[in-house]
Amino acid sequence: MLPEMPLLHATRRNFLKTATMAAACLPLAGWLPRTLRAAEPGRKLGFALVGLGSLSTHQIAPALLNTRYCRLAGIVTGTPAKAKRWQAQYNLPDKSIYNYETMDRLADNPDIDVVYVVTPNALHAEHTIKAAQAGKHVLCEKPMEVSSEKCQQMIDACRKAGRQLAIGYRLHFEPNNRECVRLAREKVFGGLKIIQAGFGFKIGDARQWRLRKALSGGGPLMDVGIYALQATRYLTGEEPLLISATSTTTDHLKFAEVEESLVWQATFPSGIIANCSTTYSVGGIKGYRAYAENGWFGLDPAYEYTGQKGLRSDGQTIALPPVDHFAAQMDNFAQCIFENRPTPVPGEEGLRDLRVMTAIYESVRTGKTVKLG
Ligand code: NAD
Repeated sequence: MLPEMPLLHATRRNFLKTATMAAACLPLAGWLPRTLRAAEPGRKLGFALVGLGSLSTHQIAPALLNTRYCRLAGIVTGTPAKAKRWQAQYNLPDKSIYNYETMDRLADNPDIDVVYVVTPNALHAEHTIKAAQAGKHVLCEKPMEVSSEKCQQMIDACRKAGRQLAIGYRLHFEPNNRECVRLAREKVFGGLKIIQAGFGFKIGDARQWRLRKALSGGGPLMDVGIYALQATRYLTGEEPLLISATSTTTDHLKFAEVEESLVWQATFPSGIIANCSTTYSVGGIKGYRAYAENGWFGLDPAYEYTGQKGLRSDGQTIALPPVDHFAAQMDNFAQCIFENRPTPVPGEEGLRDLRVMTAIYESVRTGKTVKLG
């Protein structure tokens, strides 16, 4: 789990100002969301959250209050006491409270447009497919699922239902990460050559689902290493071609089912090499640096809920004003739905990460370099 971060209580004015500034300074088509534009006047999309754990409680529900085009309209939870608490706190009607067995009844609820899946990784396909079959658009947390096959099933279900599927890659909406993408793609320091990226933290409670492979699909790679993988993909704009990886475990009791620490090297088609690491046993690995022909740049921290900042080899700092990542992500999805244009973070993007992570685990298992593509 990411360390608990204080939510940025950006005012709506500040949020719009910073979102607009960020979009204005980074006109990178394809990767970057467009500047927010007016939707139907006063219309907000109703979001139902599935899984009311830490992320929903401390980040997503508060962020919904910071959005312009979204509102919390329903919940799906297996815990009746939580349902009661959330219903009172967010003033939700009885008809918009569901459990995992009744969530197919979402089909009868026109107040809910989008289902946001925030359950353990290996439940994402089940909940996404149920939501799609109920005719809802789906925003699903990262990692998309625990296998490429399940990702494909999610994509197919949403396509069949004619609904959009977005993956919760909030950093695509974060101005400092976007600035680094600009520096890379515009070759401000020349062409990239080497990237170092990593994300890890010291995990607590040994009984949590993140350490149970059946629910997590893997260890820190699936949970936080995916951010380093994403960084290498969005900085290069390329897909890894070759992967070699190794993992180690020192605490065999705690990490009986998933890896404790893992490093991988990715070679990209243009010749860029990325060295990446992830771990559940130490803190402090939380950024990336990209080395180009004439200099370097990077962020540290790069991936947390707020506080992104970075350095460049020419002495300039990277410190664009912060935004509420989750609010920006949800507003962007709402805009895409309103304007009937595809999300910049579709299911296919989640599937691409699963393919690479599967190759990483294959390399660990076989001790061989794995070729992708
Ligand atoms: P959590 O353990 O705090 O919450 C998970 C929720 O799922 C709980 O409410 C739990 O009751 C519910 N649940 C339903 N069925 C369950 C089952 N069979 N076993 C266990 N729990 C079950 O986890 P979280 O930190 O909120 O993470 C949820 C998802 O969000 C994960 O996919 C995680 O990777 C992702 N996440 C994303 C970010 C981000 O920054 N985008 C940050 C944290 C977590």
